[in-house]
Amino acid sequence: MSFAELGLSDAIVRAVTEHGYTIPTPIQMQAIPAVLKGGDLLAGAQTGTGKTAGFTLPLLQLLSTRPAKAPELRAIRALILTPTRELAAQVEESVRTYNKYVKLSSAVVFGGVNINPQMSRLKQGVDILVATPGRLLDLMQQGAVNLKHVEILILDEADRMLDMGFIRDIRRVLAVLPPKRQNLLFSATFSDEIKTLADGLLNNPAMIEVARRNSTVEVIGQKIHPVDRDRKHELLAHLIKERNWYQVLVFTRTKHGANNLVEKLGKADISALAIHGNKSQAARTRALSEFKDGSLQVLVATDIAARGIDIDQLPHVVNYDLPNVPEDYVHRIGRTGRAGSTGEAVSLVCVDEKSLLMDIERFIKREIEVEVIAGFVPDPNAKAQPIQLRSAGGGGGGGRGQPGGGRSGGGRSQNQAKSPSRAQPGSAPRKTSAPARPGSPAGQGRRPQPAGAPSARPRRNSQG
Ligand code: AMP
Repeated sequence: MSFAELGLSDAIVRAVTEHGYTIPTPIQMQAIPAVLKGGDLLAGAQTGTGKTAGFTLPLLQLLSTRPAKAPELRAIRALILTPTRELAAQVEESVRTYNKYVKLSSAVVFGGVNINPQMSRLKQGVDILVATPGRLLDLMQQGAVNLKHVEILILDEADRMLDMGFIRDIRRVLAVLPPKRQNLLFSATFSDEIKTLADGLLNNPAMIEVARRNSTVEVIGQKIHPVDRDRKHELLAHLIKERNWYQVLVFTRTKHGANNLVEKLGKADISALAIHGNKSQAARTRALSEFKDGSLQVLVATDIAARGIDIDQLPHVVNYDLPNVPEDYVHRIGRTGRAGSTGEAVSLVCVDEKSLLMDIERFIKREIEVEVIAGFVPDPNAKAQPIQLRSAGGGGGGGRGQPGGGRSGGGRSQNQAKSPSRAQPGSAPRKTSAPARPGSPAGQGRRPQPAGAPSARPRRNSQG
């Protein structure tokens, strides 16, 4: 199956081919014809599946082959909402890539940067606007954006937007859109909240779902390296140097932990920068572009900041801390081995995290291979301590080597190590994986907020 056979015009196929894509991914094979038909779409697909081109290519085709409703106003014809700034920037970059021979205009708006240039850009007229919900609402309130002629609305990573507390912002945006339009909703999971949103938004939608990440993780080599909690940074530096890892994405649970780790890697002569919600947009953009061009060896990120990071064939992902939500493990390791390439994901697991590991293995329905690294054999008598789930306000904690360092003890965690049966990871052969949780992996119901996310649901997240 080729892109041309999916019904795309020569101009679009040419741009896609020049970009190096020859065969559509499964989500593209299903989404492109469905969107071209003009109806609503509910798509289950995660980042890494090629979903962006799945909606962008037919969007460009539809807009370029029919006249604008209000050409004299140069009003926005398609609106793409994304949860994070990084994802917004990436999606708009994709629009520009595929738009090369079609020549619709596009722009991206997100928070954390000066609003004035965005207002000026909008004044010039934009066909396709990619936006995070918070900034879009600001622009609406200032009368700087006209959404009355939107023909196609796309909610990308809708589950993430809801997780990040954007539902009210989204509803306020929906309220100003014209009632007759095409709606596309992309989500990796289908919680009750997503279903409610979809029910209210979509009209008799086509429904497609591609293989979930947790059934495709086999392409990614996964390993656990057991280690004492205060030797994680040493082990990471050892692995990076010993194995000549040149482009490593490292996940920490907290922002403070990310900063701490960058400092420690720096002392070990390893170039690293952190990317998280407390960093300015300029710092985040810089870190990301240095990482992408290979001048930065290690990027340390929290889950929220890492969302939307799209780097082809990222060779190494490291879970410096295991995530407290098993789905985030799948999202994290999905950063490597993207679009069919292979990659390696390793997790540095200390005694505190045994229970998190069990949750993850249950979720992905497999046991992860354990390898103890010589010189880093963990203390078999170490006692589990509670895990701090988010950065303390004053940068508290600072326990050696443990991101977030703290042993707050006060953090809510159903995952605090409690099972002595799964001794120090790697110490004994494991027999069984518990059965999959009912309803998993779709993150049914409310999930715990990922690290770095606001604890309540404010009207607006710092990402916006
Ligand atoms: P996405 O899920 O949209 O974030 O895309 C994941 C990655 O797959 C991106 O790096 C894309 O550039 C890449 N990609 C998308 N479609 C294709 C394709 N048909 N062939 C090869 N790579 C693709």
